[in-house]
Amino acid sequence: MKKRVAILGATGSIGRQTIDVIRQFPELFEVVALTTNSNVEQLWKYACEFNPRYLGVSEKAYAQARDLLCSSDYALLSGKDYLSTIATLPEVDVVVVAVVGFAGLEPTIKALKAGKIVALATKEALVVAGPIITSLARKGQLIPIDSEHSAAMQCLVGERQEDVSLLYLPASGGPFRGYTYEQLKNVTVEQALKHPKWNMGPKITIDSATLMNKGLELIEAVHLFNLKPEQVKVVIHPQALVHAMVLFKDGSLKAHISQPDMRIPIALALAYHQRLPLNIPAPTLQELSSISFEEPDEETFKALRLARNAVKEGGDRPCVLNASNEVAVESFLNGQIPFTAIPEIVEETLNKIPFTAQPDLETLQEIDAQARQTAKQLISKMQMT
Ligand code: NAD
Ligand code: MG
Repeated sequence: MKKRVAILGATGSIGRQTIDVIRQFPELFEVVALTTNSNVEQLWKYACEFNPRYLGVSEKAYAQARDLLCSSDYALLSGKDYLSTIATLPEVDVVVVAVVGFAGLEPTIKALKAGKIVALATKEALVVAGPIITSLARKGQLIPIDSEHSAAMQCLVGERQEDVSLLYLPASGGPFRGYTYEQLKNVTVEQALKHPKWNMGPKITIDSATLMNKGLELIEAVHLFNLKPEQVKVVIHPQALVHAMVLFKDGSLKAHISQPDMRIPIALALAYHQRLPLNIPAPTLQELSSISFEEPDEETFKALRLARNAVKEGGDRPCVLNASNEVAVESFLNGQIPFTAIPEIVEETLNKIPFTAQPDLETLQEIDAQARQTAKQLISKMQMT
């Protein structure tokens, strides 16, 4: 029986690579539903190729989609809840959540409640609502696509929780590794969008440059693997060949090593537990002989410390961190604020929003909106001075 797949965010970097894997293994997977925020033309091409039963588009793209996607073979969904509607369709077995940011939270929760397998790329969902999501997911129902977490999951197979001492979370260091704070002040959007190892969507590429991506991943790991924040150690590993290492209490270290190619974790999540012959060569021994690890510079790249503190404090802090970061990254991409203002906006927003201890989904939605508004006000003030 083929697995019936819905891809939320099918036209993005993860979405397109998910499509590549499915295209390679048509005997294993069937595309049932695809969504896009705004790239209707790409969605249309995929619709022609895969004949999904459902397509989803944001409200702003609906008119264009209605005109272009004129076949009657599928249903075109839009409106406030289209992602959640698609995530809970009875015809779907696996939901690939690959949208950007907070928008991925509700569909993830709804898909888990509806008993779907969730292949989760949208780390922001776990950052914002880790305790809610992990309490809903039964064993094997939530499979991370984020490469480090896929790698850690593989290192942890067959191991006992109490035997784990430490998870090493490697970071390539992004385009500004080794920069001083002074140098960071003047970097351009174009420079920040040039990641040395991965080709990803704009938001995560900026997060990688600030190291907020690794901060978000630290929070993601704490929730996914039930670790204390102190048990997750970020290391800079510029070659991006080791994707996670787990240290056990007998002194053993297990690592996952592969080329930096997202099709590997995507295929593993889609076919879980099966490994598919992807034709991606493993790193050579020569490549492995020159790998290196170094400590991150948390004084210059403050985002990492902000994220670690947020998960230690718990409650709504990761939600505030994420919302303000989403707003600040968008403003940086639009040329409104300098690169170094991103963590400053996040820190100031965290200081301004009062602490809430155990927010439910509705409260998180309110706090997310409040944090966005606060971050926007801080940005306007910054632009005026
Ligand atoms: P992207 O910008 O390339 O693509 C995002 C996709 O989601 C697009 O199809 C877009 O149309 C859709 N989308 C964006 N915002 C939306 C919204 N508000 N509502 C509905 N749809 C929306 O992003 P990406 O690089 O594919 O990243 C997607 C997610 O996966 C992010 O959370 C990112 O952190 C995570 N991730 C990505 C990579 C990677 O290699 N790209 C690796 C690990 C994790
Ligand atoms: Mg990652």
